[in-house]
Amino acid sequence: MKNKIINITNYGNSSILIIYTGGTFGMVKDSNGFLTPFNFEKILNQIPELKHLKIKLSIISFTKPIDSSNIDIKDWIIITQIIEENYTQYNGFVILHGTDTMAYSSSMISYMLKGLNKPVIFTGAQIPIGEIRSDARENLITTLEIASLHTENIPIINEVCIYFNHVLLRGTRAHKIRSSTFAAFESENYPVLAEAGIEIEFNYQALKLYDSQAKFTLNNKLNPDVSLLKFFPGIKENVIKSILDDSDTKGIILETYGSGNIMNFEWITKILSEAINSGKTILNISQCIGGKVEQEKYETSKKLNEIGVLSGKDMNIEAAVTKMMFALGQSDDIEEIKKLLTHPIAGEMSE
Ligand code: ASP
Repeated sequence: MKNKIINITNYGNSSILIIYTGGTFGMVKDSNGFLTPFNFEKILNQIPELKHLKIKLSIISFTKPIDSSNIDIKDWIIITQIIEENYTQYNGFVILHGTDTMAYSSSMISYMLKGLNKPVIFTGAQIPIGEIRSDARENLITTLEIASLHTENIPIINEVCIYFNHVLLRGTRAHKIRSSTFAAFESENYPVLAEAGIEIEFNYQALKLYDSQAKFTLNNKLNPDVSLLKFFPGIKENVIKSILDDSDTKGIILETYGSGNIMNFEWITKILSEAINSGKTILNISQCIGGKVEQEKYETSKKLNEIGVLSGKDMNIEAAVTKMMFALGQSDDIEEIKKLLTHPIAGEMSE
């Protein structure tokens, strides 16, 4: 599950806990030339510059670091429990995580940490730390620097973010768009929170504000009974039915075309309304990475509104899937679930 916390450096006026979950970041070549996770307690051997950061650094790692494709609800609970147990002892938290599912984890953890008034920043790497051209060093050093910044004891960042390749993005707005260049993430529907060049330039207007009244709590009630149905021309009725009729599924995300459109054939409207009438919640998210769902705009989406499909507005797919799991975990009451899904919880959709 998780190891003990190890103190790495011991001076500076900010303290950060690094939570190492796995991913490409921590790989080094073993004696046979294979990439394997390195012992993270020895991070100073890999990045000796960390000593010059003037940050009190501690590290806790998963006992068995994972490829983020294997991330699961139980891992989100472990990560958030570490943050909860250590919330008052540290000024911020940095989560080292594989890039593949980083945007799912950053979204879910944004919903789970209520009243957050400290930075929780995810980062990772496209090239392992043990390789000469690795991006791991820059990504970690700048993430630590951003997480440690504060003015008069108030952190600049008070939310869950992803820092990667010189940009800081909101955790619920980031989307992995590239697997083979350093610029892995983008946030089409929300401005970049900071850009790291010679200086780190913050986009103060886009940042979540510090809330002196907020009380930090962990909400780890999650329900994975969620399905995702991506539309494509020619999709067959029995494929759609198999997803919508599944008796365990309580929430379905429709990945629709453009501004939230699908074919307006009678049979599809019938299957969708039967699912809604049987108590399932259906949320409409666009396949486009920019723009928003507008269910009244075209004839092809008007019906969705009439039968009670909810508009996911400008949410991205990672934020939507995790939000559905979170919302279903909060209540069995359909109206309550609808309210959660259609209002922002952690900056994941525009008002
Ligand atoms: N498959 C790796 C992971 O997500 C890729 C990466 O770390 O970027 O864990």
